[in-house]
Amino acid sequence: MARVLLLNPPSREICMRDYFCSKISKGSYCYHPVDLLILSGILSVRHEVQVLDAVVQRLKNERTFSLAKGYKPDVIVFLTGAVSFHGDGPFLKELKQATGARMVGLGDIFLEKPERVFELWPWLDAALLDFTTPDILDLVESANKISRNAVVRSPDGQLIRLPVVQTPGAWGTALPRHDMFSSLPYSFPFARKKRFATVLTNFGCPYSCTYCPTGSFLYKERPLGSIAEELDSLQALGISEIFFKDQSFGPGRERIAALCRELTGRKWPFGWTCFLRPEMADEKVVGLMAAAGCHTIIFGVESGEAEVRRLYGREYSDNILREAFAACRKFGVETVATFVMGLPGESTGSLDKTIALARELDCDYASFNIFVPAYGTALRKKLIDQGVVTDELAFMDSAVSKPYMSTALLPAEELWKMHRRAVWSFYGRPGFLIKRLLGAGSWGRMFRMWAEGWSVMSARRNA
Ligand code: SF4
Repeated sequence: MARVLLLNPPSREICMRDYFCSKISKGSYCYHPVDLLILSGILSVRHEVQVLDAVVQRLKNERTFSLAKGYKPDVIVFLTGAVSFHGDGPFLKELKQATGARMVGLGDIFLEKPERVFELWPWLDAALLDFTTPDILDLVESANKISRNAVVRSPDGQLIRLPVVQTPGAWGTALPRHDMFSSLPYSFPFARKKRFATVLTNFGCPYSCTYCPTGSFLYKERPLGSIAEELDSLQALGISEIFFKDQSFGPGRERIAALCRELTGRKWPFGWTCFLRPEMADEKVVGLMAAAGCHTIIFGVESGEAEVRRLYGREYSDNILREAFAACRKFGVETVATFVMGLPGESTGSLDKTIALARELDCDYASFNIFVPAYGTALRKKLIDQGVVTDELAFMDSAVSKPYMSTALLPAEELWKMHRRAVWSFYGRPGFLIKRLLGAGSWGRMFRMWAEGWSVMSARRNA
């Protein structure tokens, strides 16, 4: 039996870098690192597991270091990402020297040319490319045992890139150890209860939006029986609020119906939030979801211009969007629209349309993000081939930082101004503010909404 430490390393910012995506929190919220959560279950079957999340516990380097060292781990599985790798490297190197543990990384920076991370970090032993399979057990037990879904450094220093094999059956059957995370102060702006759980029912995404890395993972669904068992375990822990972190809930209609059946008829109902493709959100589907406890749906609207959406793999009309948001209003489901601003080909004109659509859809919240050429995406590859971006390992953040790049039609400074304009134009409407605050339902939620809203609207400082 090995001692395994699941580590979310300390960070000056509240950064979230799970599921091969890293960004800085727009407010003070911080949700569960879902990959460490899933691995906690798989690893606990055969090993002694500890969780140390320095981000949510706001632990500084010294304190995290001392706690991590005190666990005397044989293996440390840690998160990293484009938003934090510069700071993570020195900390993790020292931890390796102090503990002698095998170091296994997870994060977006391993999705493209992982060899350059291994070169930068000579102390790194392996990178895991799928956190839902039992492969981690082989990796922990012997670096020579693992045969897929990882990059490993062999004892003689050679880098071995094992094949990525993602099949429907390859899902670790052990239930995530929610008990190890439930006492930590995670928060999520759309959760209606302070205590909530994050659950995955699938991995990857069957769609292929070219700016998103998830579409390049082979899509697989988790067996329904295992999801039902996890819901039972959450009820046993007294948790009744869920964030389904699936990149797209369902995503087919039959699977949505099957998941909703699992959620209804329980000891007490769950309240939940999920991401959903707008094409799926007709009245039948939204009605089913609302009856199963769904109170908030997050839709990736992305751009106010249909042609821009089409260019990047999102082929739905403005009318489909209008119908989806109207269906949610009909069933009392709150909506969040997410937007990506600054995709290549966008101009100030198309961003004006985005701002107008955000207001017209009458969503309850809007999340305006700035395009970054994320690692492992088809669009990034195209931009590198065109010489628009370099393939360097660099800091990138789509949430609160100033734009990573300019495009032919949109200088970075102009994009940043449009982004601020979008936030103020959406959240600064007096009628909207009054409606949101009055609709909060409780003083606690109203206060949290006010605090989060102010963080989102305040300009940030990163270059
Ligand atoms: S639907 Fe969402 S998760 Fe799937 S590829 Fe598109 S942006 Fe990525």
